[in-house]
Amino acid sequence: MVQAKKSEAENAETINVGIVGHIDHGKTTLLQRLSGKWTDTHSEELKRGITIRLGYADVFIYEDHGKYNIEKKGRLVRHVSFVDSPGHEMLMATMLSGAAMIDAAILVVAANEGIKPQTREHLMALQAKKVKTIIVAQNKIDLVDQKQAEKNYQEIKDLLKGKFDNVLVIPTSAQQGANIDVLLKAICDIPSPERKLDGDPIFVVARSFDINRPGKKAVDLNGAVLGGALKQGKLKVGDEIELRPGKVIKESNQIKYKTISTKVRKLFRGSGEVSEMTPGGSMSIETELDMALGRADSLAGNVVSLSGKLPETTEKMRVKFSLFKEVYGLGGHENVSQIKPGETLMLSINTSITGGSVKRVKGDEMEIDLKIPVVPFKGDNMGIARNISGHWRLIGFGEIL
Ligand code: GDP
Ligand code: MG
Repeated sequence: MVQAKKSEAENAETINVGIVGHIDHGKTTLLQRLSGKWTDTHSEELKRGITIRLGYADVFIYEDHGKYNIEKKGRLVRHVSFVDSPGHEMLMATMLSGAAMIDAAILVVAANEGIKPQTREHLMALQAKKVKTIIVAQNKIDLVDQKQAEKNYQEIKDLLKGKFDNVLVIPTSAQQGANIDVLLKAICDIPSPERKLDGDPIFVVARSFDINRPGKKAVDLNGAVLGGALKQGKLKVGDEIELRPGKVIKESNQIKYKTISTKVRKLFRGSGEVSEMTPGGSMSIETELDMALGRADSLAGNVVSLSGKLPETTEKMRVKFSLFKEVYGLGGHENVSQIKPGETLMLSINTSITGGSVKRVKGDEMEIDLKIPVVPFKGDNMGIARNISGHWRLIGFGEIL
Protein backbone atom coordinates (compact mmCIF):
# COMPACT_ATOMS: atom_id res chain seq x y z
CA MET A 1 0.00 0.00 0.00
CA VAL A 2 1.26 3.43 -0.84
CA GLN A 3 1.50 5.58 2.24
CA ALA A 4 0.22 9.08 1.60
CA LYS A 5 3.03 11.56 2.12
CA LYS A 6 2.26 13.68 5.13
CA SER A 7 2.18 17.40 4.54
CA GLU A 8 4.53 19.63 6.50
CA ALA A 9 1.53 20.73 8.51
CA GLU A 10 0.96 17.20 9.74
CA ASN A 11 4.56 16.58 10.78
CA ALA A 12 5.63 19.68 12.67
CA GLU A 13 4.57 20.39 16.19
CA THR A 14 2.24 23.38 16.22
CA ILE A 15 1.75 26.09 18.80
CA ASN A 16 -0.53 29.12 18.80
CA VAL A 17 1.17 32.41 19.58
CA GLY A 18 -0.69 35.67 20.08
CA ILE A 19 0.83 39.07 19.41
CA VAL A 20 -0.50 41.67 21.81
CA GLY A 21 0.31 45.19 22.97
CA HIS A 22 -0.69 48.83 22.65
CA ILE A 23 -1.77 50.25 19.33
CA ASP A 24 1.02 51.41 17.00
CA HIS A 25 3.76 49.67 18.96
CA GLY A 26 4.49 47.50 15.93
CA LYS A 27 2.54 44.23 16.29
CA THR A 28 1.47 43.92 12.68
CA THR A 29 4.87 44.99 11.36
CA LEU A 30 6.54 42.43 13.61
CA LEU A 31 4.22 39.69 12.44
CA GLN A 32 4.99 40.64 8.88
CA ARG A 33 8.67 40.14 9.67
CA LEU A 34 8.11 36.87 11.48
CA SER A 35 5.98 35.44 8.72
CA GLY A 36 6.89 37.29 5.56
CA LYS A 37 3.21 38.19 5.28
CA TRP A 38 1.03 41.17 5.94
CA THR A 39 -1.94 40.36 8.14
CA ASP A 40 -3.89 43.59 7.69
CA THR A 41 -5.59 42.26 4.60
CA HIS A 42 -9.02 43.76 4.97
CA SER A 43 -9.47 47.01 3.11
CA GLU A 44 -11.28 48.65 6.00
CA GLU A 45 -8.32 47.82 8.21
CA LEU A 46 -5.87 49.23 5.72
CA LYS A 47 -7.94 52.38 5.59
CA ARG A 48 -8.06 52.78 9.32
CA GLY A 49 -4.54 51.44 9.67
CA ILE A 50 -5.42 49.21 12.57
CA THR A 51 -6.07 45.52 12.87
CA ILE A 52 -9.80 45.29 13.37
CA ARG A 53 -10.33 41.59 13.07
CA LEU A 54 -7.84 39.08 14.27
CA GLY A 55 -5.11 38.54 11.71
CA TYR A 56 -3.66 35.08 11.20
CA ALA A 57 -0.40 33.81 9.79
CA ASP A 58 1.00 30.29 9.73
CA VAL A 59 4.76 30.02 9.83
CA PHE A 60 7.31 27.20 9.69
CA ILE A 61 10.50 27.93 11.62
CA TYR A 62 13.78 26.22 10.64
CA GLU A 63 17.15 26.00 12.35
CA ASP A 64 20.42 25.97 10.49
CA HIS A 65 23.69 25.88 12.52
CA GLY A 66 22.05 27.79 15.37
CA LYS A 67 20.44 30.36 13.05
CA TYR A 68 16.65 30.43 13.12
CA ASN A 69 14.88 31.30 9.89
CA ILE A 70 11.68 31.07 7.85
CA GLU A 71 13.53 30.51 4.57
CA LYS A 72 13.46 26.71 4.84
CA LYS A 73 17.15 26.49 5.70
CA GLY A 74 18.13 23.50 7.85
CA ARG A 75 15.75 21.37 9.90
CA LEU A 76 12.11 22.18 10.54
CA VAL A 77 11.66 22.98 14.23
CA ARG A 78 8.22 24.40 14.71
CA HIS A 79 4.94 25.24 13.07
CA VAL A 80 3.51 28.41 14.59
CA SER A 81 0.03 29.82 14.14
CA PHE A 82 0.28 33.51 14.93
CA VAL A 83 -2.76 35.51 15.95
CA ASP A 84 -2.32 39.26 15.56
CA SER A 85 -4.56 41.29 17.79
CA PRO A 86 -6.11 44.70 17.56
CA GLY A 87 -4.52 47.23 19.88
CA HIS A 88 -7.41 49.64 19.78
CA GLU A 89 -9.07 50.09 23.15
CA MET A 90 -12.57 49.35 21.84
CA LEU A 91 -11.46 46.04 20.49
CA MET A 92 -10.39 44.50 23.76
CA ALA A 93 -13.11 41.89 23.42
CA THR A 94 -11.65 40.76 20.10
CA MET A 95 -8.24 40.44 21.72
CA LEU A 96 -9.77 38.29 24.43
CA SER A 97 -11.39 35.96 21.95
CA GLY A 98 -7.91 35.52 20.45
CA ALA A 99 -6.45 34.86 23.89
CA ALA A 100 -8.88 31.97 24.23
CA MET A 101 -6.93 30.18 21.50
CA ILE A 102 -3.28 30.84 22.30
CA ASP A 103 -0.55 28.87 24.07
CA ALA A 104 1.92 31.75 24.39
CA ALA A 105 2.15 35.44 23.57
CA ILE A 106 4.56 38.08 22.37
CA LEU A 107 3.93 41.35 24.17
CA VAL A 108 5.13 44.21 21.99
CA VAL A 109 6.28 47.36 23.81
CA ALA A 110 7.62 50.28 21.80
CA ALA A 111 10.79 51.40 23.58
CA ASN A 112 10.21 55.05 22.70
CA GLU A 113 6.68 55.11 24.17
CA GLY A 114 6.98 52.67 27.05
CA ILE A 115 4.17 51.03 29.00
CA LYS A 116 0.74 52.21 27.82
CA PRO A 117 -2.84 51.47 28.99
CA GLN A 118 -3.37 48.57 26.57
CA THR A 119 0.06 47.13 27.43
CA ARG A 120 -1.22 46.68 31.00
CA GLU A 121 -4.70 45.62 29.95
CA HIS A 122 -3.42 42.95 27.55
CA LEU A 123 -0.95 41.67 30.14
CA MET A 124 -3.80 41.33 32.66
CA ALA A 125 -5.82 39.48 30.04
CA LEU A 126 -2.98 37.03 29.39
CA GLN A 127 -2.58 36.42 33.08
CA ALA A 128 -6.29 35.87 33.58
CA LYS A 129 -6.56 33.60 30.53
CA LYS A 130 -3.74 31.59 32.13
CA VAL A 131 -1.39 31.96 29.18
CA LYS A 132 1.82 30.55 30.63
CA THR A 133 4.62 31.78 28.42
CA ILE A 134 5.20 35.31 27.26
CA ILE A 135 8.08 36.92 25.43
CA VAL A 136 8.49 40.68 25.31
CA ALA A 137 9.59 42.34 22.08
CA GLN A 138 11.08 45.68 23.09
CA ASN A 139 10.36 47.16 19.71
CA LYS A 140 11.34 50.36 17.87
CA ILE A 141 14.73 50.02 19.49
CA ASP A 142 16.07 52.00 16.52
CA LEU A 143 14.28 55.09 17.86
CA VAL A 144 15.93 55.25 21.29
CA ASP A 145 19.43 55.71 22.69
CA GLN A 146 21.14 53.35 25.13
CA LYS A 147 19.96 55.25 28.21
CA GLN A 148 16.31 55.29 27.11
CA ALA A 149 16.50 51.61 26.18
CA GLU A 150 17.75 50.71 29.65
CA LYS A 151 15.12 52.81 31.39
CA ASN A 152 12.40 51.21 29.29
CA TYR A 153 13.83 47.72 29.99
CA GLN A 154 13.55 48.41 33.74
CA GLU A 155 9.93 49.58 33.34
CA ILE A 156 9.08 46.38 31.51
CA LYS A 157 10.74 44.26 34.21
CA ASP A 158 8.82 46.14 36.93
CA LEU A 159 5.54 45.60 35.08
CA LEU A 160 6.13 41.85 34.82
CA LYS A 161 7.25 41.39 38.42
CA GLY A 162 5.02 38.99 40.34
CA LYS A 163 2.93 38.26 37.23
CA PHE A 164 5.30 36.46 34.86
CA ASP A 165 8.74 35.19 35.84
CA ASN A 166 11.83 34.62 33.70
CA VAL A 167 10.44 36.53 30.75
CA LEU A 168 12.83 37.17 27.90
CA VAL A 169 12.90 40.80 26.83
CA ILE A 170 14.27 40.98 23.30
CA PRO A 171 15.14 44.34 21.74
CA THR A 172 13.77 44.44 18.18
CA SER A 173 13.22 46.73 15.27
CA ALA A 174 10.35 45.30 13.32
CA GLN A 175 10.73 47.99 10.75
CA GLN A 176 14.40 47.28 10.10
CA GLY A 177 14.22 43.55 10.70
CA ALA A 178 16.65 43.57 13.62
CA ASN A 179 16.80 40.60 16.02
CA ILE A 180 13.97 38.74 14.28
CA ASP A 181 16.09 35.55 14.33
CA VAL A 182 16.51 35.88 18.12
CA LEU A 183 12.74 36.17 18.46
CA LEU A 184 12.26 33.11 16.21
CA LYS A 185 14.61 31.13 18.47
CA ALA A 186 12.70 32.24 21.58
CA ILE A 187 9.49 31.05 19.92
CA CYS A 188 11.07 27.66 19.23
CA ASP A 189 12.17 27.46 22.89
CA ILE A 190 8.61 27.83 24.23
CA PRO A 191 7.82 24.60 26.10
CA SER A 192 5.37 22.33 24.30
CA PRO A 193 1.88 22.87 25.65
CA GLU A 194 -0.03 19.90 26.99
CA ARG A 195 -2.72 18.75 24.56
CA LYS A 196 -5.95 17.16 25.66
CA LEU A 197 -6.69 14.52 23.06
CA ASP A 198 -9.35 12.58 24.92
CA GLY A 199 -12.91 13.70 25.60
CA ASP A 200 -15.42 15.11 23.13
CA PRO A 201 -13.99 17.65 20.69
CA ILE A 202 -14.49 21.33 21.48
CA PHE A 203 -13.78 23.68 18.58
CA VAL A 204 -14.24 27.43 19.13
CA VAL A 205 -15.12 29.47 16.05
CA ALA A 206 -13.28 32.79 15.70
CA ARG A 207 -14.06 33.45 12.03
CA SER A 208 -16.28 32.11 9.30
CA PHE A 209 -16.27 32.64 5.58
CA ASP A 210 -17.43 31.78 2.13
CA ILE A 211 -14.37 30.66 0.13
CA ASN A 212 -16.11 30.52 -3.23
CA ARG A 213 -15.17 32.91 -5.97
CA PRO A 214 -17.92 34.52 -8.01
CA GLY A 215 -18.88 32.53 -11.09
CA LYS A 216 -18.13 29.07 -9.69
CA LYS A 217 -20.38 26.27 -10.95
CA ALA A 218 -22.98 25.05 -8.45
CA VAL A 219 -21.53 21.52 -8.34
CA ASP A 220 -18.08 22.84 -7.41
CA LEU A 221 -19.25 25.10 -4.62
CA ASN A 222 -17.58 24.80 -1.25
CA GLY A 223 -19.53 24.82 1.99
CA ALA A 224 -19.25 27.48 4.68
CA VAL A 225 -15.85 27.41 6.39
CA LEU A 226 -15.25 27.80 10.13
CA GLY A 227 -11.90 29.12 11.36
CA GLY A 228 -10.78 28.76 14.94
CA ALA A 229 -9.07 26.42 17.35
CA LEU A 230 -9.65 22.93 18.68
CA LYS A 231 -9.39 23.11 22.47
CA GLN A 232 -9.60 19.38 23.09
CA GLY A 233 -10.38 16.04 21.44
CA LYS A 234 -10.22 15.08 17.78
CA LEU A 235 -12.22 15.83 14.65
CA LYS A 236 -12.25 13.78 11.44
CA VAL A 237 -13.50 14.28 7.94
CA GLY A 238 -17.05 12.92 7.78
CA ASP A 239 -17.87 13.62 11.45
CA GLU A 240 -21.45 14.72 12.15
CA ILE A 241 -21.11 18.00 14.01
CA GLU A 242 -23.24 20.56 15.76
CA LEU A 243 -22.81 24.34 16.19
CA ARG A 244 -24.19 26.19 19.19
CA PRO A 245 -25.74 28.65 19.83
CA GLY A 246 -26.16 28.30 16.07
CA LYS A 247 -27.92 30.70 13.79
CA VAL A 248 -30.24 33.59 14.49
CA ILE A 249 -33.89 33.11 13.62
CA LYS A 250 -36.82 35.45 14.07
CA GLU A 251 -39.87 33.90 15.69
CA SER A 252 -42.91 36.11 16.22
CA ASN A 253 -40.69 39.18 16.50
CA GLN A 254 -38.31 37.50 18.89
CA ILE A 255 -34.68 36.78 18.15
CA LYS A 256 -33.84 33.16 18.83
CA TYR A 257 -30.90 30.89 18.19
CA LYS A 258 -31.15 27.49 16.60
CA THR A 259 -28.50 24.75 16.79
CA ILE A 260 -26.94 23.98 13.40
CA SER A 261 -26.19 20.41 12.37
CA THR A 262 -23.80 19.58 9.56
CA LYS A 263 -20.90 17.37 8.53
CA VAL A 264 -17.13 17.90 8.28
CA ARG A 265 -16.28 17.96 4.56
CA LYS A 266 -12.61 18.99 4.82
CA LEU A 267 -10.11 19.98 7.49
CA PHE A 268 -7.21 22.40 7.23
CA ARG A 269 -4.37 23.18 9.56
CA GLY A 270 -2.56 26.31 8.51
CA SER A 271 -2.85 26.03 4.77
CA GLY A 272 -2.42 22.24 4.63
CA GLU A 273 -5.31 19.81 4.30
CA VAL A 274 -5.50 17.10 6.99
CA SER A 275 -7.80 14.12 7.50
CA GLU A 276 -7.87 14.34 11.25
CA MET A 277 -7.42 17.29 13.53
CA THR A 278 -5.90 17.42 17.02
CA PRO A 279 -5.37 20.54 19.17
CA GLY A 280 -2.59 22.96 18.17
CA GLY A 281 -2.52 25.66 15.55
CA SER A 282 -5.27 27.63 13.92
CA MET A 283 -7.61 25.47 11.91
CA SER A 284 -10.48 25.55 9.51
CA ILE A 285 -13.39 23.21 8.99
CA GLU A 286 -15.18 23.14 5.68
CA THR A 287 -18.76 22.13 6.38
CA GLU A 288 -21.65 21.05 4.21
CA LEU A 289 -23.52 24.21 5.16
CA ASP A 290 -24.70 26.73 2.63
CA MET A 291 -21.71 28.98 2.00
CA ALA A 292 -23.85 32.07 2.59
CA LEU A 293 -24.21 31.09 6.24
CA GLY A 294 -20.51 31.56 6.79
CA ARG A 295 -20.16 34.99 5.24
CA ALA A 296 -18.68 37.93 7.14
CA ASP A 297 -17.82 35.99 10.29
CA SER A 298 -21.49 35.44 11.01
CA LEU A 299 -20.78 32.10 12.72
CA ALA A 300 -17.95 33.46 14.91
CA GLY A 301 -18.51 32.82 18.60
CA ASN A 302 -20.06 29.40 18.04
CA VAL A 303 -18.81 26.23 19.69
CA VAL A 304 -18.59 22.99 17.66
CA SER A 305 -18.65 19.39 18.82
CA LEU A 306 -19.94 16.02 17.65
CA SER A 307 -23.72 15.85 17.39
CA GLY A 308 -25.39 15.61 20.76
CA LYS A 309 -22.23 16.30 22.74
CA LEU A 310 -22.63 19.98 23.60
CA PRO A 311 -24.37 21.17 26.76
CA GLU A 312 -27.66 23.05 26.30
CA THR A 313 -27.10 26.74 25.67
CA THR A 314 -28.20 29.14 28.34
CA GLU A 315 -29.30 32.76 28.60
CA LYS A 316 -28.84 32.86 32.36
CA MET A 317 -25.59 32.24 34.09
CA ARG A 318 -24.07 32.22 37.53
CA VAL A 319 -20.59 33.71 37.54
CA LYS A 320 -17.91 33.90 40.18
CA PHE A 321 -15.91 37.04 39.51
CA SER A 322 -12.81 38.86 40.60
CA LEU A 323 -12.41 42.52 39.78
CA PHE A 324 -9.21 44.46 39.18
CA LYS A 325 -8.29 47.22 41.61
CA GLU A 326 -7.91 49.74 38.81
CA VAL A 327 -9.25 50.12 35.29
CA TYR A 328 -6.05 49.23 33.40
CA GLY A 329 -7.33 50.46 30.06
CA LEU A 330 -7.39 54.03 31.32
CA GLY A 331 -4.31 56.18 31.53
CA GLY A 332 -5.31 57.63 34.90
CA HIS A 333 -6.12 55.82 38.08
CA GLU A 334 -9.78 55.00 38.30
CA ASN A 335 -10.76 52.31 40.78
CA VAL A 336 -13.10 49.52 39.72
CA SER A 337 -16.36 49.80 41.65
CA GLN A 338 -18.39 46.76 42.69
CA ILE A 339 -20.79 45.18 40.15
CA LYS A 340 -24.37 46.32 40.77
CA PRO A 341 -27.71 44.69 39.94
CA GLY A 342 -29.28 46.27 36.87
CA GLU A 343 -26.02 47.24 35.18
CA THR A 344 -25.01 46.03 31.72
CA LEU A 345 -21.72 44.20 31.28
CA MET A 346 -19.97 42.71 28.28
CA LEU A 347 -18.65 39.17 28.63
CA SER A 348 -16.08 37.41 26.44
CA ILE A 349 -16.36 33.65 26.75
CA ASN A 350 -14.15 31.57 24.48
CA THR A 351 -14.59 33.31 21.12
CA SER A 352 -18.05 34.67 21.87
CA ILE A 353 -18.93 38.14 23.05
CA THR A 354 -22.25 38.91 24.64
CA GLY A 355 -23.90 41.68 26.62
CA GLY A 356 -25.64 40.82 29.85
CA SER A 357 -27.81 42.45 32.45
CA VAL A 358 -26.85 41.78 36.06
CA LYS A 359 -29.75 40.32 38.09
CA ARG A 360 -28.25 39.62 41.49
CA VAL A 361 -24.90 40.09 43.20
CA LYS A 362 -23.80 38.37 46.37
CA GLY A 363 -20.18 38.68 47.45
CA ASP A 364 -18.09 37.60 44.47
CA GLU A 365 -20.96 35.85 42.66
CA MET A 366 -23.52 37.24 40.26
CA GLU A 367 -26.47 36.09 38.22
CA ILE A 368 -26.62 37.57 34.76
CA ASP A 369 -29.14 37.49 31.87
CA LEU A 370 -27.42 37.25 28.49
CA LYS A 371 -28.36 38.80 25.15
CA ILE A 372 -26.80 35.98 23.18
CA PRO A 373 -26.97 32.47 24.65
CA VAL A 374 -23.68 30.73 25.45
CA VAL A 375 -22.54 27.13 25.69
CA PRO A 376 -21.86 26.90 29.42
CA PHE A 377 -18.84 24.76 30.19
CA LYS A 378 -18.45 24.81 33.96
CA GLY A 379 -15.19 26.46 34.96
CA ASP A 380 -14.63 28.29 31.65
CA ASN A 381 -13.28 31.73 32.29
CA MET A 382 -14.43 35.02 30.84
CA GLY A 383 -13.38 38.62 30.55
CA ILE A 384 -15.78 41.14 32.08
CA ALA A 385 -15.98 44.63 30.59
CA ARG A 386 -17.95 47.67 31.70
CA ASN A 387 -18.84 50.73 29.70
CA ILE A 388 -16.96 53.68 31.17
CA SER A 389 -17.56 57.04 29.47
CA GLY A 390 -18.47 55.39 26.17
CA HIS A 391 -15.73 52.74 26.08
CA TRP A 392 -15.79 49.08 27.03
CA ARG A 393 -13.04 48.59 29.59
CA LEU A 394 -11.88 45.30 31.00
CA ILE A 395 -12.65 45.40 34.73
CA GLY A 396 -12.05 41.81 35.75
CA PHE A 397 -12.54 38.13 35.10
CA GLY A 398 -15.08 35.51 35.92
CA GLU A 399 -15.71 31.79 35.91
CA ILE A 400 -18.88 29.97 34.90
CA LEU A 401 -20.44 28.26 37.95
P1 GDP B 1 0.31 47.85 15.59
O1 GDP B 1 -0.81 48.83 15.75
O2 GDP B 1 0.88 47.48 16.93
O3 GDP B 1 -0.02 46.66 14.75
O4 GDP B 1 1.50 48.65 14.88
P2 GDP B 1 1.99 48.62 13.35
O5 GDP B 1 2.73 47.38 13.06
O6 GDP B 1 0.82 48.95 12.50
O7 GDP B 1 3.07 49.80 13.37
C1 GDP B 1 2.74 51.14 13.66
C2 GDP B 1 3.77 52.06 13.04
O8 GDP B 1 5.05 51.89 13.65
C3 GDP B 1 3.99 51.84 11.56
O9 GDP B 1 4.15 53.09 10.93
C4 GDP B 1 5.27 51.03 11.51
O10 GDP B 1 5.98 51.22 10.31
C5 GDP B 1 6.04 51.59 12.67
N1 GDP B 1 6.99 50.62 13.24
C6 GDP B 1 6.77 49.33 13.58
N2 GDP B 1 7.88 48.77 14.09
C7 GDP B 1 8.83 49.70 14.09
C8 GDP B 1 10.22 49.72 14.49
O11 GDP B 1 10.79 48.75 14.98
N3 GDP B 1 10.89 50.91 14.33
C9 GDP B 1 10.30 52.02 13.82
N4 GDP B 1 11.03 53.12 13.69
N5 GDP B 1 9.01 52.02 13.42
C10 GDP B 1 8.28 50.89 13.55
MG1 MG C 1 -1.90 46.03 13.89
